[in-house]
Amino acid sequence: MTQILCKNCENKYQGDFCNSCGQRNIGNHRLQMNEVIADFFDNTFNLHKGFFFTLYKLFISPGTVAKAYIDGKRKRYTNPTRFMVIGLAFQSFIDYWFKTTEVIEHEEYYYFSFLSEAMNSSMEIWNVKLAVEYILLSNLFMIILLPVLLYFLFKPLKYNYTELLSTSFYFFPAILFITMPFLFVTKVLLDIYVSKEVIIFIFTGYLFWSYLSFFKAMKWPQRFLRFTAVIGIFMFVRIAVLPWILSILYLQTS
Ligand SMILES: [Zn+2]
Repeated sequence: MTQILCKNCENKYQGDFCNSCGQRNIGNHRLQMNEVIADFFDNTFNLHKGFFFTLYKLFISPGTVAKAYIDGKRKRYTNPTRFMVIGLAFQSFIDYWFKTTEVIEHEEYYYFSFLSEAMNSSMEIWNVKLAVEYILLSNLFMIILLPVLLYFLFKPLKYNYTELLSTSFYFFPAILFITMPFLFVTKVLLDIYVSKEVIIFIFTGYLFWSYLSFFKAMKWPQRFLRFTAVIGIFMFVRIAVLPWILSILYLQTS
């Protein structure tokens, strides 16, 4: 077989694809219109097909998607980082144009009787700010925090932090693709308020659904109890600890 010189990376190779950079042999010929058009469709629609396929699989079988990526099947689904960026961009876009998160009701919040009145009302304001004004930051905080808790509570399964982080890169945006259209329909089309409990229910429901399937290797009652503990700590941090720390740093007065 004749050696081919790759025009992309100068590597000498045999066969249809460069073994160093992956460029197709055909890429070494003069540019032809049909290739440019084929490339355009491949780059544009393969991404979309891959993305919608990944999203669909994340709804019906979320554990499989995350496990496949961690186990090295990296070409089958949209990679987790890209998926997360698309998810967060989607949320920012919808929220920027339609102020969708404002429909989340926030009349009565959580009250901690052992804390002062001023602290309680400041924490309440922070809770709302995190859900409505600082959604991107609060999403990133949750995406990074959850794998920390999973790491400690699912230690017997020996996942490292990066592997667990990739699961939250898939599962959190998947939730946004449920809640954002839902908030869009309720606010823009129906003009009704949604109670925060409905959002929390969708949120925790999906996390249970996805992580209980992801951690299948652990026996049922153990897996369920450990994940319930993860969600309990997680919610406590998000609803009480984080607003409390923020209130100590920046006390909010209404
Ligand atoms: Zn090459």
